[in-house]
Amino acid sequence: MVRNHDPLPGRILIFNAQSQLLEEVERVEKTEDEWRLLLSPEQFRVARMKGTEPPFTGAYHDFHGNGLFRCVCCGTDLFNSKTKFDSGTGWPSFTAPVDEHNIRRVQDVSLGMIRTEVLCARCGAHLGHVFPDGPPPTGQRYCMNSSSLSFYGSRDNSPERPAKAPHS
Ligand SMILES: [Zn+2]
Repeated sequence: MVRNHDPLPGRILIFNAQSQLLEEVERVEKTEDEWRLLLSPEQFRVARMKGTEPPFTGAYHDFHGNGLFRCVCCGTDLFNSKTKFDSGTGWPSFTAPVDEHNIRRVQDVSLGMIRTEVLCARCGAHLGHVFPDGPPPTGQRYCMNSSSLSFYGSRDNSPERPAKAPHS
């Protein structure tokens, strides 16, 4: 009998946006002190302590490069620049993650609101929240903190120049 393959304990399936494959990888688990050494104070405050960066202050709210936004903590592929849009909120906003495997959603009832928090599936980093008022094609608005993301790609958004192929 063929059974679905479940990841081993401590491991997780993550979509690799370059190979376009689901890969079984180790979860990334570190102590607060370990994260504090790896991250800037603002990255630590936002990504590990569920903080929110002030609007219009982050590196990516007004940013138009072509490439991938990865988790600042563990490098997991999170958002493709193709899904980025200008929400006017002052936070980088996307219509969809690169793959549902790479994020987790949890209900957040802090600050007297019911919101859906978005976390990195591999390391649990706080990324931001998702709201059902985004543009087509998904109608979702992933409202992210720049501090939780690292950009990999071309900062030049000129449409005549295709993004470099990932392989040489
Ligand atoms: Zn992560």
